[in-house]
Amino acid sequence: MIIAANLKTNLTRKETRNYVEELSTYMKQHASTQEVLVFPAMSSLDNYESNVVIGAQNAYPTQNGAFTGEIGLDHLEEFGIKTILIGHSERRHILGESQEFIAKKFEYFKNLGFQIVYCVGEPLEKREAGKEEMLTYISAQYEGIDTKYENLIIAYEPVWAIGTGLTPTLEDIEDIHQELKTKSSAPLLYGGSVKVTNAKEVLSLKNVDGILVGSAALYSEHFCTMIGYGDIVEKEMV
Ligand code: PEP
Repeated sequence: MIIAANLKTNLTRKETRNYVEELSTYMKQHASTQEVLVFPAMSSLDNYESNVVIGAQNAYPTQNGAFTGEIGLDHLEEFGIKTILIGHSERRHILGESQEFIAKKFEYFKNLGFQIVYCVGEPLEKREAGKEEMLTYISAQYEGIDTKYENLIIAYEPVWAIGTGLTPTLEDIEDIHQELKTKSSAPLLYGGSVKVTNAKEVLSLKNVDGILVGSAALYSEHFCTMIGYGDIVEKEMV
């Protein structure tokens, strides 16, 4: 299973170092076999010696250059970062990234062989408009994206579930994941208000290959519990 933490604009470099160390210690002590990805804030990117994969929440599709406020490939290479989050709803909706730009970014990092966690998901009005309209909306987020890319992980994250404490029902998650699996056979994560109290149930669902966790991942002990659930669910599946 893939257990991913999006730390967003939280945790300083020092806090991130402690966080990553706590995760590594947990994984060693419990012989965890989960693929754990952590996306720290930009200023907390660093060389971490750990069995946790560190990814970037964002980067501009450039080696370097005049893109104020952005970082480029040089800055990722400094820390050996080869994993990136693309298409997160906060970048689509708060920062106004268009599908065209997202696809350009995807292509750039794909050509460099990056592991890409690509996020899709609908806002509430699309969910309420019925399944067909919702799927049409999500399908548009696949435009320009190579769904057969070997280093692709997709995260389904309904926008209305992110940071709100609301989640689709387990049946709804299973249903939409089944639909999304027809678009790409890449591992498919669920994200949106996953926490200790629902992570195990979500991880147990068919066509759920892992979770992407925001708020609840900020507490290392909670996130470690979720890593542990990944190990339990994998054992139960055999
Ligand atoms: C996210 O932002 O990717 C996310 C899943 O956030 P939260 O867990 O807080 O809903």
